[in-house]
Amino acid sequence: MQLGGKILKVLIAEDSKYYQRILQTTLEGWGLEVELACNGEQAWKILQREDGPKLAIVDWVMPKMTGIEVCERVRERLNESYIYIILLTSNSGKDDVIRGLEAGADDYIIKPFNELEFKFRIKNGKRIIDLENRIMQLALTDYLTGLLNRRAYIERVEAELERNLQAGQPVSLIMLDIDNFKKFNDNFGHLIGDKVLQNVANQLGIGVRKQDFIGRYGGEEFSVCLPEIDSKQASIIAERLRMGIKSIVLKDSDGNLIPYITASFGVSSTVGEGNSTVERLIKTADDALYIAKGSGKNRVVISRAEE
Ligand code: GH3
Ligand code: MG
Ligand code: MG
Ligand code: MG
Repeated sequence: MQLGGKILKVLIAEDSKYYQRILQTTLEGWGLEVELACNGEQAWKILQREDGPKLAIVDWVMPKMTGIEVCERVRERLNESYIYIILLTSNSGKDDVIRGLEAGADDYIIKPFNELEFKFRIKNGKRIIDLENRIMQLALTDYLTGLLNRRAYIERVEAELERNLQAGQPVSLIMLDIDNFKKFNDNFGHLIGDKVLQNVANQLGIGVRKQDFIGRYGGEEFSVCLPEIDSKQASIIAERLRMGIKSIVLKDSDGNLIPYITASFGVSSTVGEGNSTVERLIKTADDALYIAKGSGKNRVVISRAEE
């Protein structure tokens, strides 16, 4: 029986070397990736990591911090993404099981355990985590383009700003809006309009680094966040994106060439006066974009705050 799907990372928090080995061998045998902790404190540290395992098998009795305390802490403090916790226990009394569930465990396994039962319990956990990932993906991404939606994008810019301001690094932001987009819809229909949006999104993805991120800000408006990039570099990147969009070749269903797509760009950066909040950064980029539109479209304008 295969567990299937994406490789799931599982935390084993267990102080007994014997059980550690059994659990690890079993889980790895099912193709899962294992991370080990030999006490509660270590487990708590691992689970706090953003990329930490979302499924945890936590022994009840461990040095430094018990499994129960780990459960309670996770439920109290880690609400960004769901962590599915299976409590491992040799305390088979009903009261202990209730105590574990009360602490926030999703499930429990009583030692010594049956391998098949263990597998089904892991499978249940994986199902919940897969569902959580799916829900998160739907909540954060724009369906048409696969980019971050406006809310998720702004949240991510906020986090990036905080991190970079602390580190004394600049952050730049580009706002761009497709020129005369309405005409694609009017002349070729909404499906082609959608295709234009998808192609532009794709082109933006090609033109930026891995650490940059893109949001679909509104209908035919996008935004690109460039951490550790000043406004001068950002304007070069925006210019490259502008050329990239202009080079998109699209045909309608009859094979007719669709007249070339252009966009207008506004660029702002934290280096300018007072641009240390998301609102300011977006507002100044938006003002620059407005000027780009007013002065003939298909161009890049750097925010006046930068001059
Ligand atoms: P400008 O150069 O001034 O930006 O003009 P524009 O035509 O691009 O701007 P306008 O705001 O007049 O039109 C934007 C259009 O985008 C109107 C709206 O129907 C369309 N639109 C918004 N979201 C979508 C979408 O998801 N798919 C499609 N096909 N069209 C969309
Ligand atoms: Mg133990
Ligand atoms: Mg437009
Ligand atoms: Mg617009």
